[in-house]
Amino acid sequence: MSRRLRACLAAVLAAACLSTLPAAASPDSASPFDPRPGSAGAGDPLFPTLGNGGYDVGHYDLSFDFTPVAYDFTGRIRISATATQDLSSFNLDTDGHTIDSVTVDGAAARWSLSPGSSGQELTVVPVEPLHDHRPFRVEVAYHGNGKDPRSGLTGWRYMSDGGFASAAQASRADTFAPVNDTPSDKATWDFHITAPDGWTAAANGDLTGTRPAGGSRTTWDFRLDSPMATELMGISVDRQTYLSGEGPHGVRLRHLVPEDQVATYRPIVEHTGEQIAWLEHTLGVKYPFSTYGVQIVRDGYGDALENQTLSLFGPNWFKNAATSTTYTNTMVHELTHQWFGDSVTPTDWQQAWLNEGPAVYYAARWADEQGTASLEDKMRTAYRQLATVRRTDGPPGKPTALGGFNIYDGGAVVLYALNQRVGEERFGQIMKSWLLKHRQANADSEDFIDNAVSTAHDASLRPFLESWLYGLDNPPMAGHPDWSTS
Ligand SMILES: [Zn+2]
Repeated sequence: MSRRLRACLAAVLAAACLSTLPAAASPDSASPFDPRPGSAGAGDPLFPTLGNGGYDVGHYDLSFDFTPVAYDFTGRIRISATATQDLSSFNLDTDGHTIDSVTVDGAAARWSLSPGSSGQELTVVPVEPLHDHRPFRVEVAYHGNGKDPRSGLTGWRYMSDGGFASAAQASRADTFAPVNDTPSDKATWDFHITAPDGWTAAANGDLTGTRPAGGSRTTWDFRLDSPMATELMGISVDRQTYLSGEGPHGVRLRHLVPEDQVATYRPIVEHTGEQIAWLEHTLGVKYPFSTYGVQIVRDGYGDALENQTLSLFGPNWFKNAATSTTYTNTMVHELTHQWFGDSVTPTDWQQAWLNEGPAVYYAARWADEQGTASLEDKMRTAYRQLATVRRTDGPPGKPTALGGFNIYDGGAVVLYALNQRVGEERFGQIMKSWLLKHRQANADSEDFIDNAVSTAHDASLRPFLESWLYGLDNPPMAGHPDWSTS
């Protein structure tokens, strides 16, 4: 859901936005109907053609039928959206798919494919142009192969037994389905994943049931009631097993591990409940979703990713689990993202420090409290490195690319500096109000600064955070006059 629509909905009581509410589906007599193409990009500074303009998705319903080993798939996505301008055409992001049909409100629509900076643009021309605020439904049927040699298919992770998992961040959800692939357009989801009997499907949210699909295949139905950005899509089919449990105050836990490695991974995934409890206590904010779990894949993936309600891990993190608990730092990192990144989602990718800064920072606090690594030592080292990185890769709030030290440890240093400046109690209040104010929504760095200033009643935090986030030099570190700024 877009920020604009949310602002309007919030303003209903004040009657300030009544003329722009979705309910006002008839054309506004004050402004003439003027249909134009929706933008081919959502304005992301780092991915100019990622996402699209002119509409706001409320719900996705994805049917995805996958054949292991061969990697063939057929898909059908139903998108419930609302126009945010008069639309003559609009775009979806897609890549590597053969499009079979496109309808808008049940009527066949003209469509075309063209190259984008990350994947392709699917341009849809409805039979009749759409009025601003009008709800509409798009349905796209498509098929493809997960091992298509197209360079775009990097969101796919291939398991050695013939299964797959999705690691879509930042711009690869479009390799699984045509979507509005921007973090700023969050929507609720239904998933219907079909696989041959003997294989197990997973997706974000709750498994609501399974049903026979014919031909010795089963469809697995999932529902995610909390809005999610497309980048956090976590679907998979593999020889894997569900392990379920219960977290604090009834949070449903369901984990996925390779079916032949349950004994290895059960003791590891069982740490999850205590990690949720620790974060809830540290943040003062309850876990933001009804379900959580970790998915440990057999191979084919070596990273870790905060897919909403189902964090994804390569097996490499747990290799030394018998002798060391440092793998829990990574688990806490991805769990922290469920609050920072998944519930409160940056408006665009240049704001990614708002995801990674807190994830690194709270994982470092966890390690410090566990006695495995000192937070202060880590921040001292990171502070020194950030001084150099600011000039090569940009400061934490204005990175020139994704995935760098400036966003991760650099973002954590910004939070550490804020903590040093205002003290632990005030810092906790700032982070808590940030999470509550922007819960299940989008926010950016300026929102973060506004919240810090208003929560602490301290206008000086604005120039303070601006210099930390946007400056080309490290500001001095409060409380550590001995830390060199250069
Ligand atoms: Zn992260």
